Amino acid sequence: MKKTAIIRENFYQESLFTFESNCCFTAIDKINISPSEVRNIIKVESLSSKPIKFAFQPKDGLVRIDEKTGATLEENILSSLISIDDNQIENYKKFFERNGFLFPIGTDKFEQIDDEMLIRLIDRMRSTVRLMSQISEVEKKDYKKILSLTLSLLLSNPFEIKIGETSYSSCEHKILRDEFSEANNLPKNEYFNTDKDWMFEVNDSIYGKYKLHVDEYRHYVTDSEISDLERSIIQSYVNHQKAPRKQRLLIEFLYHVYFDIGSFYAVMPDEILFNVGFKTTGSIPNWGAFDDKLKNALIEVAKIVITEEINSNMVGVHPEYDSSIMEPRWKVDSLLGALYFSIFYMKPNVEITRLCANPKCNRYFTVSRTSSKKKYCSNECCNRALQNRYRAKHK
Ligand SMILES: [Zn+2]
Repeated sequence: MKKTAIIRENFYQESLFTFESNCCFTAIDKINISPSEVRNIIKVESLSSKPIKFAFQPKDGLVRIDEKTGATLEENILSSLISIDDNQIENYKKFFERNGFLFPIGTDKFEQIDDEMLIRLIDRMRSTVRLMSQISEVEKKDYKKILSLTLSLLLSNPFEIKIGETSYSSCEHKILRDEFSEANNLPKNEYFNTDKDWMFEVNDSIYGKYKLHVDEYRHYVTDSEISDLERSIIQSYVNHQKAPRKQRLLIEFLYHVYFDIGSFYAVMPDEILFNVGFKTTGSIPNWGAFDDKLKNALIEVAKIVITEEINSNMVGVHPEYDSSIMEPRWKVDSLLGALYFSIFYMKPNVEITRLCANPKCNRYFTVSRTSSKKKYCSNECCNRALQNRYRAKHK
């Protein structure tokens, strides 16, 4: 018995962990809420008759392997999942049928998840991967994209998913939440109650000393047009100058985004929607304020956000000592944990996960960081894009 166990492990000797699961019977119930709104309920059941096995090694990422031969059946499971278009729920169904569900589920009854929750979960994972890659791009960083990805991860509401025995909580970015829930209780700045017409200085690690006008400060604190979050940001910015370094950087960064570039009412991974007419002077968004100093601060903030997202999702990964082979191993509780483990091991200094530049493709692929020219996932996509460009030119 013992001998077979050892031989089995040899099939994927270099793997940091293996993970066993079952394929999944997946059904989608469509519920018509209104003529224009359809909700999809994804129902899943684990199939004990169809066991599957995954292995992970830093070089290849997470792959599904053949239990008997150790051959790879599906490469880069993380890319497969984040490449699925959110509008094509059918493709999520196919993914779960091949790779099982993201959390452990029962074999004797359906568990269910709303498409909205599933999409939120996967969008966060996708945004984390995209952000890691964007900040590592060598030639030209797309700072506006980095900004929208960072803000959407940092500011979107946390959510919970209950399925089977699992109760999952998304990353909360707690430093920020704790800071802003206390911001209005901070002792008020000495200038607040004066009627003087002057500028005062704020210690600011991004800009050195930053000058703020008393009137502007008072206006932001008292104006009813200003959201609670914005009010908390300015209160923290002015009145919590001795906050711990990381916390302080987040406060300063958000202050300059909201009050220098522009107040916004929604942020998506690819877009920020600004409030028009909030500021008293200048146009919105004021991209002129998005200078090199703020861009450098953004990269720091993005790294904090990525770290918190990954750490929060590593709760299902534990070190384990395998006494049969006298070696340390990792144990993962779920496919979701295994996927975040492969994000944890991404080396964006060496390799980047890029979105294919063919707008119709949507696939993510991995390239070495220095091969900055490779924009397409395949020759097929590259040719298609060239043809489209040719056609557009010669119309
Ligand atoms: Zn492609």
